[in-house]
Amino acid sequence: KKRIVSGVQPTGSIHLGNYLGAIKNWIDLQNTYETLFFIVDLHAITLPYDTQQLSKSTRDTAALYLACGVDSSKASVFVQSHVRAHVELMWLLSSTTPIGWLNRMIQFKEKSRKAGDENVGVALLTYPVLMASDILLYQSDFVPVGEDQKQHLELTRELAERVNYLYGGRKWKKLGGRGGALFKVPEPLIPPTGARVMSLTDGLSKVMSKSAPSDQSRINLLDSKDAIANKIKRCKTDSFTSLEFDNPERPECNNLLSVYQLITGKTKQEVVEECKDMNWGTFKTVLTDALIDHLNPIQIRYAEIMSDTTYLDNILAEGATKASSIADVTLNNLYQAMGFLRR
Ligand code: ATP
Ligand code: MG
Repeated sequence: KKRIVSGVQPTGSIHLGNYLGAIKNWIDLQNTYETLFFIVDLHAITLPYDTQQLSKSTRDTAALYLACGVDSSKASVFVQSHVRAHVELMWLLSSTTPIGWLNRMIQFKEKSRKAGDENVGVALLTYPVLMASDILLYQSDFVPVGEDQKQHLELTRELAERVNYLYGGRKWKKLGGRGGALFKVPEPLIPPTGARVMSLTDGLSKVMSKSAPSDQSRINLLDSKDAIANKIKRCKTDSFTSLEFDNPERPECNNLLSVYQLITGKTKQEVVEECKDMNWGTFKTVLTDALIDHLNPIQIRYAEIMSDTTYLDNILAEGATKASSIADVTLNNLYQAMGFLRR
């Protein structure tokens, strides 16, 4: 079976963008591929964060994976920091990563420009190396990537090739190495439709995100019915009379119709037929009901999972053990190939 890895940062409440852009797709993937889904807590500390919240967000995120349908009998579910190899590989890879490659990362440029050099931790710069470690440790064949991570995956691929070239092949064989390349070069897996869910308050220039200051800009998977109704009622719309996809002057309209399409599983054509003559008021009611219908069973399963702490802990422990057994092989091979004295 081909292998896939993916994860979400425990930086806040999981929202519709995380669900439609990532977690929901995992449910299909876990049937076809060998999958590892982790909570990338080490990534959640690259910007200032609340130490009181980190472990809670990590558990919540794990519980939501399961509540959304990730099946721990098929997928390995674990917490990144529970598998030491991630950080270890990162150091080894750092020695091979040119600073220029990292300086070019758009996300770093944007985030560091806002905060200023004196306020930004080195980890914000080196975070793509940790992400490369997350992927390469498991010899992943595919990585589902949204628009935001494309450049980082490209860096991962280049790093894999660089390490294979510098330390792999005949040199590694001479050091006693066995097997193929040190790293498999992973391919991107572009999610089917609606890859980007936009903010409820700005459908043109902002994506829905955990770290956006306003909670009104997103629907969280754990939002109450009232909160969902309220957010949809107040979300940004326009003054056109009917509803349509793909009109560049109507980004909010396109976003809300896309959300409706994804959450109901209808085709685009079906949504057009159903909604084109609706006014905003009618559509908002229809969308609210659809969201509540879809999220309610997830919230019920979430509550069940959280009511039994050992259940989740056991799944995470099992996941970490399985992940470590794969990761350690990759890491030990690299130590050997880089010429370290073996234990
Ligand atoms: P943060 O604001 O802390 O970066 P985030 O909401 O962007 O949080 P991430 O943890 O960075 O979430 O991303 C987790 C996964 O969710 C990734 O696969 C990412 O592509 C996907 N994702 C995040 N936001 C959206 C969105 N608005 N639409 C679709 N997919 C999204
Ligand atoms: Mg993000």
